[in-house]
Amino acid sequence: MMKSDASVLLFFIDGLGIGTRGPFNPLDNLPDANPLAVFQNEPPATFLDGIVVPTDPRLGVEGRPQSASGQTTILTGVNAPARIGYHKQGFPNQALVEIINAESIFKQLREAGVSPITFANAYTDGFFAERPRWISATTAAVEAAGMRFRTVADLKNDNAVFMDFTNRILIERGVDVLLRTEQKAAEVLARIASENRFTLYEYFITDKVGHAQDMLLAKQILTSLARLIRELLVRLDLQRTTVILTSDHGNIEDLSSRNHTLHAVPTIIWGAQREQIAAQISSLADITPAVVSLLTTDVSD
Ligand SMILES: [Zn+2]
Repeated sequence: MMKSDASVLLFFIDGLGIGTRGPFNPLDNLPDANPLAVFQNEPPATFLDGIVVPTDPRLGVEGRPQSASGQTTILTGVNAPARIGYHKQGFPNQALVEIINAESIFKQLREAGVSPITFANAYTDGFFAERPRWISATTAAVEAAGMRFRTVADLKNDNAVFMDFTNRILIERGVDVLLRTEQKAAEVLARIASENRFTLYEYFITDKVGHAQDMLLAKQILTSLARLIRELLVRLDLQRTTVILTSDHGNIEDLSSRNHTLHAVPTIIWGAQREQIAAQISSLADITPAVVSLLTTDVSD
């Protein structure tokens, strides 16, 4: 028996749900084919045979799904809102950090001997110098597993991707890096994914733009994000790498309100193992178990 060399890229997008068509949904009537343009009661238009699984972010707990508890659920497989009794906004509290410390996907994969595993995002020097008091679910998971954070130096060496993959936000903050096209960002992320058995990448701007209810900016970033995803998919060996794109809750798909929505989120799966993964997913709590099972299954050939 030998271990499979299957790999997974988990592409997390904050605040992307499955809405209805209409004037408040920036995904309606976009000019190009967009893998993220999934609408309720319509068969999804797929790109490179991706499978779309409408995924429950409400997890049986009353109220609007929120980031801290939703991301904790995605990154651990534990139904975090049910565990703490509510949907927790923003950053994880102690109860959520404890769930992450005990159950994070990085920790589970490491304990199962899946290696190498990585977090592709670059963090700025400011993050390390002035440690923010509140840290995200992902930051907590990376720290709990004792993993290295990629830095601006890695970004300059084409060995990391910033949360805003074009680097525009960094440049506006005065960081000395080059603006990247979607193609260039895709090239870097595809290479990182090809060198690791598990790669996490996170994108948050969708949620910010959803709260701001900015239709023009929403259409721009969703078009750019779709371009990144298309460029990424054509650069990956989809026989080896399974791409799982998911979100923690809806938001940007309905700009009539500044709140998160109650919609299902799209989990979109690409790659040779897509049917097997899709069959295992119905809520956010199913993502980590599906990834762990794919990467720890022995193959006998
Ligand atoms: Zn939000």
